[in-house]
Amino acid sequence: MSRTSNAWVLALKNLFLPIYCFACGVRLLTEENGYFCPNCWEESPRIRRPYCTHCGKPHEPMVGLGAAHNFPCSSCRSHPNPAIRRIYGAAIYDGAIGQAIRLLKFYGKRTLARVLVEELETWIMQEMTPEQYDLVIPVPLYPVRERERGFNQSTMLAEGIQPCFPNAEMDQSLHRIRPTRTQSSLQGLKRRDNVRGAFAVIGDNCVGKCVLLIDDVVTSAGTVTECAAALRRGGAIAVDVLSVALATRRTQWDRV
Ligand SMILES: [Zn+2]
Ligand SMILES: [Zn+2]
Repeated sequence: MSRTSNAWVLALKNLFLPIYCFACGVRLLTEENGYFCPNCWEESPRIRRPYCTHCGKPHEPMVGLGAAHNFPCSSCRSHPNPAIRRIYGAAIYDGAIGQAIRLLKFYGKRTLARVLVEELETWIMQEMTPEQYDLVIPVPLYPVRERERGFNQSTMLAEGIQPCFPNAEMDQSLHRIRPTRTQSSLQGLKRRDNVRGAFAVIGDNCVGKCVLLIDDVVTSAGTVTECAAALRRGGAIAVDVLSVALATRRTQWDRV
């Protein structure tokens, strides 16, 4: 369909079936992503340099290093995560992007996966070295949960970005071997206990591989740390994490 006729179809559809931005309520005149106006989407906070080279959270520039220079935060310097080499997050879990993740995950708005994949693609091009990865692996759901939901949002994201990694293939050898409670219902150490021992690698596909683990949101990093530990036990030589969003404040954890 030509651009002009497409615009007419959208205009007609909008006349009879108006859609509104989920964030600010303004009527959408185009269907750029079908849920948010361009303003809300643009204003949703992204993670910009400098950010921590381990946990991925943004921080203040270090005097003398320049604003674009990334370095480890004080927390990661004193308590480095032994299982994960580094975590990348493209956005803060807030604003329209945070809403989009919840609409995808809890309300089944699957078309938003493509929009979130586009955010990740931009991040990958700007911030990552894609050639180094051998496997792209999503954080798995417990099979009963996945059947109830009808999909795994992390798998949708992983499949969407896999073409960005020229040497990597999709892999599903990481499994959630027991059900866990929703992390948002828990606080602090209980989150870690909730997922402890919940993941395992089946088979030897990870042996000697550099793995990129995909999640939709990273909060306390308890889930991805347990996944990474299982991947390392399964033979992976390095595990990095790529997430659409990082919850950088505890007040954001309850909504994940
Ligand atoms: Zn809006
Ligand atoms: Zn850090």
